[in-house]
Amino acid sequence: MSLGEFDLIATYFVRPAGTGPRRAAVGNGDDCAVLAPASGMHLAVSTDTLVEGRHFLSTVDPVRLGHKALAVNLSDLAACGAKPFGFTLALTLPRVDEAWLAGFARGLLDLADEHDCELVGGDTTAGPLAIGITVFGEVPAGGALLRSGARPGDDLWVSGHPGNARLALEAFRGTLHPSLSAEAFDACRLAMECPEPRVALGLGLRGLATAAIDVSDGLLGDLGHILRRSDVSADVFLDALPVSPWLAARAVSERQDGILAGGDDYELVFTAPAPHRAAVEALGAQLGTPLSRIGRIAPAAQPRVRLWEGGLDAPSEARGSAVANRWTSFDHFRSSPRETP
Ligand code: ADP
Ligand code: MG
Repeated sequence: MSLGEFDLIATYFVRPAGTGPRRAAVGNGDDCAVLAPASGMHLAVSTDTLVEGRHFLSTVDPVRLGHKALAVNLSDLAACGAKPFGFTLALTLPRVDEAWLAGFARGLLDLADEHDCELVGGDTTAGPLAIGITVFGEVPAGGALLRSGARPGDDLWVSGHPGNARLALEAFRGTLHPSLSAEAFDACRLAMECPEPRVALGLGLRGLATAAIDVSDGLLGDLGHILRRSDVSADVFLDALPVSPWLAARAVSERQDGILAGGDDYELVFTAPAPHRAAVEALGAQLGTPLSRIGRIAPAAQPRVRLWEGGLDAPSEARGSAVANRWTSFDHFRSSPRETP
């Protein structure tokens, strides 16, 4: 006999006493969760929804799906420099599949435990598979990293190796020629299905970065949000972009498409004053997170992003030639998913 709604919640999403993080004053199981952020802290709140066929393939491993559903939300907290506190889960299921639920709950709750983030409530309904999560994080009053803080002269940074997730997506679509080696496919698939949110980096960037955003829709597109909100422009240097070993093996245009417009990477793009450069580098080394300085913020101008062939520290007369920006970011209501012109 299949589980009813309340047994399902009790079995998979209510933790037995003494297991899992306990952060809320009143957690799961009442009409509301009651949250008590530490004194002097503000709550940072973000919601992300994953819909089958839109954000993930029906064949994805439920453990990875549970991980990713929370990871994309934690990534938003990371981009604000917020420390995860708790989350709610709105789950819409076509049927009760206990093997699927056990895997999904494991992927979700393992990542939650890793970040000391309590599942404080949710909602469970029947319908086409969709996962809505709202995360709550703590950030010192006035200390959140915002999109609006970039200033001319700031360095522009990106974490990790954006582009691998895009490579996996293209491999699934069968559009890569030549195709990926088995090793490259597994690594890129892991990047796409199981991203690690840059929470520790976001926390370390409090007081160092002036603006930050996580890369969900593509580096240039998401950078554009910082530039518009801060009313500045940016020079980005193609030779300074981090290239993963998997992308290094691809044709130049494919490599650039992946890094600049790939999306689904959940790396952080951030700006920091040049005098903080050594501190940012030290933070990357301490966390074991590659951080690449890829450009510089300049006063407002059109176009907002200028791409240069050359390296970042070349004198301005030796920047190399300007490169036309042919990359657009992903928009759910325009074009087909993740298509570049
Ligand atoms: P209500 O009818 O008061 O909105 P529900 O019957 O929807 O409450 O849920 C009962 C309890 O179980 C609530 O505390 C709710 O937060 C929790 N809950 C429901 N679905 C989930 C879920 N998918 N994950 C975690 N908690 C859930
Ligand atoms: Mg309800």
